[in-house]
Order: sequence, then structure tokens, then C-alpha cells
Amino acid sequence: MSNPPKFTPDLDSVPGDFYARADECLACGIPPHIAPSLFGWIEEKKCYWKRQPETDEEIALAIRVLQSQESDCHRYCGNDPRILSSVPEFCDYLPSKPAPVPDPTFHLTEQPTFISRLLAWLRRA
Ligand code: SF4
Repeated sequence: MSNPPKFTPDLDSVPGDFYARADECLACGIPPHIAPSLFGWIEEKKCYWKRQPETDEEIALAIRVLQSQESDCHRYCGNDPRILSSVPEFCDYLPSKPAPVPDPTFHLTEQPTFISRLLAWLRRA
């Protein structure tokens, strides 16, 4: 597991970057239909992560589950940029944005410029 989950994880799921929030289940039953290789089902109770995704195909399935869930009960606490960009609303640790660059400021200068020196020279001539 890359980072600690920000919400209390369901203890029936295997530990890992994908996790189910404890006590959030509405018994929709969707994840075991979308990804039966990753999810188990405790009858009339809840789904749980029986395996963490490892292959690209399994990660795509896990992303699909997060996109399809009805009660925001599944989350991701890892650092894989593919997953962070696919389901940012369900990720615990999004990369921080770079600090904004301040707008440039301009100041009038008292220093003579080439043009002002040229004009002064022409006036004197
Ligand atoms: S996706 Fe959420 S609401 Fe649906 S069965 Fe799983 S834990 Fe329950």
C-alpha cells in the first residue's frame, strides 16, 4: 500500500491501494458484476475487494468500478498517474498543483534610456 487510506477501510477487503470505505454500502451489487475477478460478495450485505488489480486489464476494470459505483464507497489511495487522472474524484492523494507564477510587474524607471538620451542630445544640438 502506497499511502494510508484517508477513510476507514472495510476490513473484509484485502489491503491495498484500492479500498472500500467501511459502513458505506447500499448493497448495489454492481462491482462483482463488472469485475468478478476482483470483487467478492457477502450475500445481501456488501461487496469487497478479494484481490488488488495487478495487470493493465485489471486496473482498467477497477477504474470502471470506481466510475460506476453508486455510493462513492470505493476509493484509491495510491500514486499511479493513470488512475489518478482517470478517477480523481475518488483518489485520496492527488498530486499538488505547481505554485502559480506571479504576474510580471513593471516599474517606471528614473534611469535615462537610450531614447531619452538621444532626445536630450538632439535638443542640445
Ligand atoms: S459498490 Fe458500494 S454500495 Fe455497491 S455493493 Fe459494493 S460496497 Fe455496497
